[in-house]
Amino acid sequence: MTKPELTKIIAAVNNKIVLPIAKIRNVEIIAKIRNMEIRRLIKHTFAETGAKLKSIPWRSRKVWGPALILLMAAAGTGYYLNTTVSAAMIYINGQQIGIVNSVEQGKQLVEEVLRKEGQTIGQTARTHDQIDYRSTRLKKGVINSGCLSESDLSNNLTTYVDGVELNIAGENIAILPSQDDVQNTLKAFQDYYNKPSDSNVIDTVNFVEEIATEQIETQPEEIQTADMVLDKLIKGKTASIDYIVKETDTWWQIARNNNMLTKEVLACNPGATENTALRPGQNIKIASSVPYLTVISEGVLTQTQAIPFEVQNITDESLAEGKQVVKQEGSEGLKQITTAYTQKNGTYIEKKVLDEHITKQPVTQIVAKAPSLVIYSIASASSRGSARISGLSWPVKGYVSSPYGYRSRDFHSGIDIAAGTGTPITASASGTVSQACYSGGYGNMILINHGNGVMTRYGHASKLMVSAGQHVNKGQTIGLVGSTGISTGPHLHFEVIINGQTINPITNLP
Ligand SMILES: [Zn+2]
Repeated sequence: MTKPELTKIIAAVNNKIVLPIAKIRNVEIIAKIRNMEIRRLIKHTFAETGAKLKSIPWRSRKVWGPALILLMAAAGTGYYLNTTVSAAMIYINGQQIGIVNSVEQGKQLVEEVLRKEGQTIGQTARTHDQIDYRSTRLKKGVINSGCLSESDLSNNLTTYVDGVELNIAGENIAILPSQDDVQNTLKAFQDYYNKPSDSNVIDTVNFVEEIATEQIETQPEEIQTADMVLDKLIKGKTASIDYIVKETDTWWQIARNNNMLTKEVLACNPGATENTALRPGQNIKIASSVPYLTVISEGVLTQTQAIPFEVQNITDESLAEGKQVVKQEGSEGLKQITTAYTQKNGTYIEKKVLDEHITKQPVTQIVAKAPSLVIYSIASASSRGSARISGLSWPVKGYVSSPYGYRSRDFHSGIDIAAGTGTPITASASGTVSQACYSGGYGNMILINHGNGVMTRYGHASKLMVSAGQHVNKGQTIGLVGSTGISTGPHLHFEVIINGQTINPITNLP
């Protein structure tokens, strides 16, 4: 307080203009003082003495008393300025939230909070809150202990960042940082399914669903990256769809056919267990991935396809049993196919061949094979003799003295071929000797296994020339014609057996 100011106060008191004194600058300062003692003191002084002052004459003790008090107040102001420091209050929407050193520092603190709030998405956050700063003075020491921290400010400030909401067919899918991010995500989704190349020319790409975007104010944690949103779009949403139970369906089968686990299918149908019966035609629920977004692409694809070569088998009598020789190597041909297509999220929904032409003819492979037993068909047990095989040869040259089939008393399981004793019996086809021994009515008997369930039997031999386990070739002499066992004269009893069942040899001999 300056000397003239002090003088002014005293003069004012002396001139009995007490009330206007309150408007003198120093008194105004006093009014702002937070030291309540001084404020109360002044109030008290004027309240007690003010009314009487007008009538109290100059030099009266009653005048000097308040003057003295004002002098003390003025001295207090000096003291106040010495023991306090300047500071600033920060108000958010009218609510005082803290103290900082200065308005400038307060503004910097707000900027810092906004910068950090938006940092994760590369923005500076903003706020609609009304922020006010008011200068003040505070007792030394108060400011150090009560300074507003960043986190306190952050907690009191409502901030937002800009985002762009992606809406597909009326459903809000995600919030991205910017329009560019939205467009890049949609493009990446198209590119995920479309792979253009020289041989795949894509004409049009369109989305089926209506796509909308909206600029919104949001929180950084609500914002997803383009990669996250692309991943979401590709995965689609899991939805429950209807499934109609088929004739042979089981819970397990339905799960398997729909790439689910049994428990997942059951979970779609509350109350159902693995033991719950399924009726054909019944409607149950299964989970299915449904795309958020459908991209329809139309294009023209040119593909080269291999044409498999054919294999032609020829019989070569000169080759040893089981041997084969490639007479001509086969090679694949090539054809070029041009197709116009429509794809839905990468799956063809329409294909039309525009052009197809062979660019390289295939070459047939020719294989020469030794003649062998071929079974054309095998009879069932109930229809005796109806199977046919080829590749057998006559074991003995001669006429058939007794045919296959029913005779007067019994069933003749083979044919009898008349031949003189000592005539060589040859193997009807190559194979392994199963038995070569004396066997009841057959007399000396040879049984050969040709594989594929085919066997041949030779009976009444005068001599066995092979033994069990021995491999024999087609046409190889295995014994000599005789009349051993139950026989009325020299002949060969010949049987052809398929899977344990005899068939008529005569219809299967050349
Ligand atoms: Zn016989």
